[in-house]
Amino acid sequence: MSGPRDWSPHEPRRPGVVRRTLPIVLAVAVVVAGLIHFRDDLRELIGTAPGSGRSALATHSLYEAATPVGRRCAGLPKDLDADGEATLRTLAGCLDRMWSAALERAGFDYEPPAETRLVGTPEEAACGIDDFDWSGIYCSGDRVVNVLVERGGEERETFPMMFTLAHEYAHHVQQITGIADQSGPEVFDEAWSRRLELQADCLAAATLRDVHPYLLNDLRRSAAAQSSATQEQAEVYRDSHGSGASSARWMLRGQKEGTVASCNTWKAPAEEVS
Ligand SMILES: [Zn+2]
Repeated sequence: MSGPRDWSPHEPRRPGVVRRTLPIVLAVAVVVAGLIHFRDDLRELIGTAPGSGRSALATHSLYEAATPVGRRCAGLPKDLDADGEATLRTLAGCLDRMWSAALERAGFDYEPPAETRLVGTPEEAACGIDDFDWSGIYCSGDRVVNVLVERGGEERETFPMMFTLAHEYAHHVQQITGIADQSGPEVFDEAWSRRLELQADCLAAATLRDVHPYLLNDLRRSAAAQSSATQEQAEVYRDSHGSGASSARWMLRGQKEGTVASCNTWKAPAEEVS
């Protein structure tokens, strides 16, 4: 029989495209499914999951400075409420000095916020106009600290405003040291936000512990009973900032130990940052 051969029993059969690639496709599918299924374990294994002792944020070199951050704040008036805004301005200067020294000990350069804005309404802030119910906000883009000094047309009590200022300053420190950086392998979800916020509460308490320990005690106790205007707002706040009980617990750590290392929310188990 002549003519072109179309089949030979002596040569191995050449499988079709599907049969040739199917094993590879299946193998890839198994690996991908495994990666999805074991994602959290793998993240833990390679140390990128918040709550893992090896997470880049848990082992940040900022925690190596073992000296407490807080100092007494010279120049604060005896009556904090006599001129609340003047008190906040004095405290801002003290926070700059505290963080400058603490960061220097950890090998970082400190730069003060570009501006500390004491605002009567959210519209006067550098950002966050559409966010509800904030008493302070840090605008990371232009590094502006904002503190709301009035609520319902009345000036807020001064010490809670001082805590707000210290909390927003802590966000500034998280920003300039890269802790708040959102470009790594972490997942920037609500759990990440809670660790960031609870760390800011802890650092705020660490900076204020020698400024006014008794008022800080009162504020910490009332933090456990945080209230928002509506149930929905309360839930949104808890999801992004943690519960009042968590906040009070981290404030207590910051107040007791006073170091940045004591405020390492990034290596804490999930139940401590809920
Ligand atoms: Zn915050």
